Amino acid sequence: MGQLVKERAAYSSQTCAVCEHCAPENRESQAVFRCHGCGHIANADSNAARVLLGRYERRMNRPSLDAEGKGMSLPAKRQLGDLRLSA
Ligand SMILES: [Zn+2]
Repeated sequence: MGQLVKERAAYSSQTCAVCEHCAPENRESQAVFRCHGCGHIANADSNAARVLLGRYERRMNRPSLDAEGKGMSLPAKRQLGDLRLSA
């Protein structure tokens, strides 16, 4: 089973997963990503997925941002409880 990860998707479609160069022209077409910084070429969707994964891993390695993650998990659990009660 996969793990659902919430990550900001802003600019992921135009950011290079290799060198993190971010520019609109990196998005050569709907399907093709071509980095104008390092020349990295990839499927646009898989490049965006790698960008998001990289952001997520960096965030997990930063203890200072742990509080944000814990705060976000509490409302989700409460929601689940409410759903069970009303069912
Ligand atoms: Zn690049």
